[in-house]
Amino acid sequence: SDAPVRFKRVMLKISGEALMGETAFGLHPPTVQRIAQEVKSVHDLGVEICMVIGGGNIFRGLQGSAQGMERTTADYMGMLATVMNALAMQSALEELKIHTRTISAIPMDQVCEPYIRRRAVRHLEKKRVCIFAAGTGNPYFTTDTAATLRASEMNCEAIFKGTKVDGVYDKDPKKFDDAKRYETVSYNEALARNLGVMDASAIALARDNRLPIIVFSLDEPGGFRGILAGQGTYTTVK
Ligand code: UDP
Repeated sequence: SDAPVRFKRVMLKISGEALMGETAFGLHPPTVQRIAQEVKSVHDLGVEICMVIGGGNIFRGLQGSAQGMERTTADYMGMLATVMNALAMQSALEELKIHTRTISAIPMDQVCEPYIRRRAVRHLEKKRVCIFAAGTGNPYFTTDTAATLRASEMNCEAIFKGTKVDGVYDKDPKKFDDAKRYETVSYNEALARNLGVMDASAIALARDNRLPIIVFSLDEPGGFRGILAGQGTYTTVK
């Protein structure tokens, strides 16, 4: 379509669980392929795309530490899980002929590129999708924070947070019929009311860097592209 595209460079953050589909653990290849298609449809608009994918479909540090594992070791396992998810997404995108780089906060040169900021920027300028893996490289953080950090470093105009619902509600829309969706909500209100947009450190970092967070449904086919073309329902945290 000829609709104006609202953004030149964006960050797409999805949880690891988004790659599970209806399964209980790990990766569901048809779901990975479907999300890759959504990314391609936005790439086709000429938008430069960064991605961060969580690891919760494979391992979460908190889970491990609750079972007696040392917390930082468990967090490193979680970070490694995000690398697996990133590689799966890279593979699905390249199947669609989208040049993609997996860029890890923890160097593992045989597997993917190490994170070097200026190099990543260059990839984006060349329209390569950059998937930032291994979170921030530090324990005690989450991939929401990693997405906000990389989005800031890459000068993204917005963070697109793909979820199961089409925005932020005052209460759980899957449980309450009268739940109301916000068009916009301030960072401070999202924090104060614990609206579950992202974890608190990620929201605070987005606030300090004036990065809008666009919460939308990843289950809606064409939803990601629609928002970039000025359509659809979503909530902007700003
Ligand atoms: N993690 C970490 N530092 C980071 C990012 C992630 O230690 O900068 C670990 C943490 O243990 C976390 C796991 O990686 O539980 C998976 O990431 P996350 O829980 O954010 O994944 P999601 O919930 O988005 O699938």
